[in-house]
Amino acid sequence: MAIEMPQGLPFSVDTWTPSSKSSKRHHFLTHAHKDHSSNITSHSSFPIYSTLLTKTLLLQHYPHLHPSLFLQIEVGHSLIIHDPHGNFTVTAFDANHCPGAVMFLFEGQFGNILHTGDCRLNLECLLNLPDKYVGRKGKKATCPLDCVFLDCTFGTFSRSMPTKQSSIQQVH
Ligand SMILES: [Zn+2]
Repeated sequence: MAIEMPQGLPFSVDTWTPSSKSSKRHHFLTHAHKDHSSNITSHSSFPIYSTLLTKTLLLQHYPHLHPSLFLQIEVGHSLIIHDPHGNFTVTAFDANHCPGAVMFLFEGQFGNILHTGDCRLNLECLLNLPDKYVGRKGKKATCPLDCVFLDCTFGTFSRSMPTKQSSIQQVH
């Protein structure tokens, strides 16, 4: 689900509104599900950071988007984003969601911000984050995140969700 980033942040994630287009200088896509990419075709002149797999899946939905719009970032990789108001770093982490899905960790003068997109945020997933943000074995995090954008589309879903393992067994 699209979340407008607060004013002052130079980036948007999964948000393709006119406001995002006009006020954000850098655009990120966590994964290719349609509720995260609707209206993305309005962004035909901006680079979009995503994984190669997300780009590949998205271009099947929107074949008129030009492949050159996308800049690649993969799980475990960091990029320095050059911005007139201060460079920042973005790192992609496995979101444990669908193929190609990532969470983005932004680190800059604005603070340290994790945007999860859709995720299955289990312990293994959390432990992939840098040590300084995650307490381990009784030790507290030395540098807590300033902000977490956590997608809670099904946060109020009243039925129990099957485990990932159970879902895989049902598919088999
Ligand atoms: Zn999704």
